[in-house]
Amino acid sequence: MLSGVSDGDVGPRSPLPVDVLEARRQSIAPGRWRWLSQSHGGGVVLLGPEEPCSGREGDALVTTMPGAPVAVFAADCALVGLASPQGVVGAAHVGWRGLLAGVLEATVTTMRSKRATEIAAVLGACIGPECYEFSESDLELLEARYGPSVRSKTTEDRPALDLRAGVLRALEALSVSISSDEARCTACDPSWFSWRARKDTGRHCLVVTGER
Ligand SMILES: [Zn+2]
Repeated sequence: MLSGVSDGDVGPRSPLPVDVLEARRQSIAPGRWRWLSQSHGGGVVLLGPEEPCSGREGDALVTTMPGAPVAVFAADCALVGLASPQGVVGAAHVGWRGLLAGVLEATVTTMRSKRATEIAAVLGACIGPECYEFSESDLELLEARYGPSVRSKTTEDRPALDLRAGVLRALEALSVSISSDEARCTACDPSWFSWRARKDTGRHCLVVTGER
């Protein structure tokens, strides 16, 4: 499930009273949510039955537990939900640093270690290249790893990163199919939170629940 601005700030730093926040989260996806302290890295946590997760650092969660919702949050970064017929699910928060750190590769490897075979992905909205001016040196690093499709231009003709293209390239290389893709820009479209465009402190989420 994907949330948007209309669902309110459901992130870990939401200023909402705990009961209001919990009610909002439950209306998005019922169950006991688990999430991590996201750090724009490549860390993956495999969720066990007694893993509360709170405060653990990482950018992706994988679980085989039925009915356990795993959540990732963003305001411009890409959010990727992953599922397999074996009931292994995952959720990843993918900014450019996490992409380069291999968070998607690590998440899929962890899922396959739990016997996931065919994996399908759901992509949330993320910042589009027209709004994402990027340094040439960092762009070169991403281009070296994920190919020329990550290189783009802003509306002002400045060098830009196409984060979605990088995510799609990484998933393709991992033989992950795409089951849905929001394919919209968080900065252009006020339906989502955007730190870059609006200095939003709120976060939207992507929640994946293990099959019961
Ligand atoms: Zn945009």
